[in-house]
Amino acid sequence: MQTQAKTHPTRQAINNAAIRELRSVVGAEHLCTTAEDLDRYSRCTIPWQSVCAAVVFPASAEDVAEVVKIAARYQIPVWPSSTGRNWGYGTTLAITDGALVMILERMNRVIEVNEELAYAVIEPGVTYEQFNRHLRSNGYKLWIDCTDGSGLGSVIGNALERGVGETPYGDHFGNLCGLEVVLADGERVHIGGELRGLHTWHTHKTGVGPYLEGLFTQSNFGIVTRAGIWLMPQPESYNSFVYQINDERHLPQVLDAFRRLALTGIVNTKLHMINDFVSMSILTQRIAEQVPRNGPLSDSNLAALRHKYGIAPWNCAGGIYGTRRQVSLQRSLLRQALGAYGRLIFLSDRLLPYLERIIDWSWKSPVMRRITELGARTSLPVLESAPYVHKILQGIPTEYFVKHAYYRNRHPRPLDAVHPARDGCGLIWFAPILPLSNAHVWPFLEACKERFAAHGFDFYVAMLLMNPRSVICLMAIIYDREDPGETTHSRELYSELLALMRARKLQQYRAGLQSWGELFSDAPEILRLNARLKAALDPANILAPGRYGVAAALELAQPATPADNTTP
Ligand code: ADP
Repeated sequence: MQTQAKTHPTRQAINNAAIRELRSVVGAEHLCTTAEDLDRYSRCTIPWQSVCAAVVFPASAEDVAEVVKIAARYQIPVWPSSTGRNWGYGTTLAITDGALVMILERMNRVIEVNEELAYAVIEPGVTYEQFNRHLRSNGYKLWIDCTDGSGLGSVIGNALERGVGETPYGDHFGNLCGLEVVLADGERVHIGGELRGLHTWHTHKTGVGPYLEGLFTQSNFGIVTRAGIWLMPQPESYNSFVYQINDERHLPQVLDAFRRLALTGIVNTKLHMINDFVSMSILTQRIAEQVPRNGPLSDSNLAALRHKYGIAPWNCAGGIYGTRRQVSLQRSLLRQALGAYGRLIFLSDRLLPYLERIIDWSWKSPVMRRITELGARTSLPVLESAPYVHKILQGIPTEYFVKHAYYRNRHPRPLDAVHPARDGCGLIWFAPILPLSNAHVWPFLEACKERFAAHGFDFYVAMLLMNPRSVICLMAIIYDREDPGETTHSRELYSELLALMRARKLQQYRAGLQSWGELFSDAPEILRLNARLKAALDPANILAPGRYGVAAALELAQPATPADNTTP
């Protein structure tokens, strides 16, 4: 794998006295200050450059509080992350150089699992992979909800970003209940509960009095050091389904059908609907195909690749859960609602091992492969993705889907240990959320698609049902970071997409670092309100100043503009 070309801007060193104090709290081995370490934690996939001054790994809430107090004394901004895999939005980057990056991966205990009430209490370093393994290996009949991102991502980190997963428990913040937070002055608070313990801390989400939990998401008001999280009781029966739409003229009817199914509760997963390029970016790389090395795939390139891999223009995936009778009824209701517009295929736990065996044999025998592909009416690589889809919809994470970030990378992607930031991939997430109606969705997607093409990029859109009324139209700008032209265009495209979104009175559901300076440009009153809260909770601006446009003083809320930050 190549190393990412870096030019280090001026690095603002943390003074030696502060380093000594920090080491005395966490131990010398848990404070990184070498150039190599700082480079590792300053890598990201977005076209933004900032270099941190040190990286600290606390082991407990007490450590976190001590570190924050030291940082306040020496006026060092602290940028906390749980596991720091926020690829496409900023990874562990601070807006500017000289931050103390705090990674909470050592705080990785599953503190409690309550099977009767279907919740757990975990620390921020607990990853999806670890959490799922913990529950299954200890025989708990509870499922986590993960994302299709890295299994090494943090359960709490994603929830604090208000991320969205797959199952009926896919609203990750909605399923957090009871937070422990360290404030900027080092005070520890149990949001929704109290320090002496409260039996409903993890069962009743709002506590009493003003509802404060939301303040600690997409913000910089505190550092979350533990949280309760609700889990899905393992259902008696479960099916995943994929749905292929070959004729794009049916998209409006499909969208109407999905809304009705969601509003009536027949579908309650975070349904995913992806265009052909999303599938392509998971299955292959630009360097592996006979396609132009610059510019987007033409319609004929796309059609040829669709044919080669047996991909429909649009694909959907979801899950149905319940008793055997409920699942069987849901299958027939889905068939009734969607059957006319596409091909609906269900997969059950019973069928899964057979499918996996057939896939395995087909890779080994060309004759078997031909028979399998004819029978399945798709290619073996596409068929191979079905077990991953099935597992992810029951909380079993995989690195399989993260491969999309390597589509324009000049080097072959790794077979495992996928890490787009380390490997110099170019990926920016643009995450607008829209009302789930045809009048909003399709004209907006058309306009965005036209902008992608104008800048030489392939149009990538994954629509995720946030709730029955709103859909996230998640777009990835996948670019070659080694190409300065593509990097400049990625930045320009992102700005144009933001402008287009605002012109249509829309916003993102979650925002990358480059857009924080503009988040409230149409709502200065919200900017002022956030600044007043920040000034009350963190008057010295120690915690991630400027994150999501929030800082104690308004002028600090604006991150450097891309023009000030031109190193890829
Ligand atoms: P993931 O690895 O799951 O993508 P991260 O650890 O990168 O999640 O967290 C995503 C973002 O959420 C971080 O950039 C950080 O700003 C914020 N965040 C994560 N964990 C915490 C925490 N424990 N307290 C406060 N903010 C956090």
